[in-house]
Amino acid sequence: MPAVNNVLVVGAGAAGTTAAALLADAGVAVDLVEMKSEVSALGSGITLQGNALRVLRQLGVLDECLELGQPFSQLVIRLPDPAATIVARVDDIPFGGPDLPSTVGMYRPDLARVLVSRAERAGVRFRYSKTIDSLTQDDDGVDVHFSDGSTARYDVVVGADGLRSWTRRLLEIPLETKSVGMGAFRMFGPKPADVTEFHAIFGGPSYMALVCPTSATTAYWSLVEPARDRTTQTPEERLADFLELSRPYHGPWDEVRDSFTDPAALNYTWFEHHLLDAPWNRGRVVLIGDAVHTCPPTIAQGAAMGFEDAAVLAELLTDREQVDEELWATFTARRFDRVKTVVDASMQMAQWNLDHVQGDVPGVTRRVAAAVSQPA
Ligand SMILES: Cc1cc2nc3c(=O)[nH]c(=O)nc-3n(C[C@H](O)[C@H](O)[C@H](O)COP(=O)(O)OP(=O)(O)OC[C@H]3O[C@@H](n4cnc5c(N)ncnc54)[C@H](O)[C@@H]3O)c2cc1C
Repeated sequence: MPAVNNVLVVGAGAAGTTAAALLADAGVAVDLVEMKSEVSALGSGITLQGNALRVLRQLGVLDECLELGQPFSQLVIRLPDPAATIVARVDDIPFGGPDLPSTVGMYRPDLARVLVSRAERAGVRFRYSKTIDSLTQDDDGVDVHFSDGSTARYDVVVGADGLRSWTRRLLEIPLETKSVGMGAFRMFGPKPADVTEFHAIFGGPSYMALVCPTSATTAYWSLVEPARDRTTQTPEERLADFLELSRPYHGPWDEVRDSFTDPAALNYTWFEHHLLDAPWNRGRVVLIGDAVHTCPPTIAQGAAMGFEDAAVLAELLTDREQVDEELWATFTARRFDRVKTVVDASMQMAQWNLDHVQGDVPGVTRRVAAAVSQPA
């Protein structure tokens, strides 16, 4: 008998859909409320490393992701010179082990669709344009009032509602999210045929210019600059700035720049960070994913950590017979130090970029590899 019969998941991102699907697979009745009217994942592309792929394989959607996305295994480092000279090719460490690709690039909306339909197939009941208004709990369950006036009682509530988590606020957990000092443009566009790996130009007028393949024919293109308030700009003004900032970058950038014409395909976001001290639960309400940890994507591990949180939580809630302190202590023991290693390493990498110094990147990468190469 699982420790839970019914669970509410708040938020249909990577962490929420994964937790919901794995719980439903084990026979748990799962409701998922998503504030938006549909799942549309902004941000054009995502880099999924081996430990994220391990969870996608557990979900049974790895082949679908490999078909839609683009596997690659190297970081190609170029100079910000007129030839975008290649100075190094660094093999990615296969965090998921030898039987998984090191890395897969994917169009974010494709990943979101795969995860939502997987959870739907498992029997998760999605409720869109709906959120929670209040939570009241006792030793045996959580009473939830929803924004549409309805109420329900659950054995456990999972807050997977992202960086500005409303569930976290309802629990009155103070957590300050800080800017890292960097802002990223992300543009979805075509991929030159010879870009089969992740290409990074470090330095130049921005911190870095990145190209991540997202399928055989598409890529996402990113420029990371000092964080600026671009909230008052029109999409057209943002696009004009992006194009201007991209001009000093050459190689593949010269091949595609003229095709960047759609302001709606461009996203701008700051890098932010926070890490909630353990425990991540208050009674029978638990937070996972960006709701408890977020970091600059300098190692591309944010979603990977959310996938792992979801898989470990679902395993504990379905393998254990009761929801008790021991279950939460085990969740903390399996998650907190591992996530802290990733957050600290990501922050260190960002700081080196901010300071324009070349730090011990291989050393930090090895530390992360040692932490995440083993199953969570
Ligand atoms: C520029 C950038 C690049 C990144 N690149 C990578 C990368 O390459 N690889 C990687 O692994 N990670 C990357 N990340 C991190 C990754 O995007 C996040 O860690 C991941 O998307 C978080 O998933 P989540 O499910 O926790 O939260 P989210 O994806 O934020 O999902 C939360 C969901 O909850 C919903 N929601 C919010 N509030 C409510 C509410 N009150 N009620 C109901 N629903 C609600 C939201 O609408 C959303 O659907 C990057 C991040 C940034 C900023």
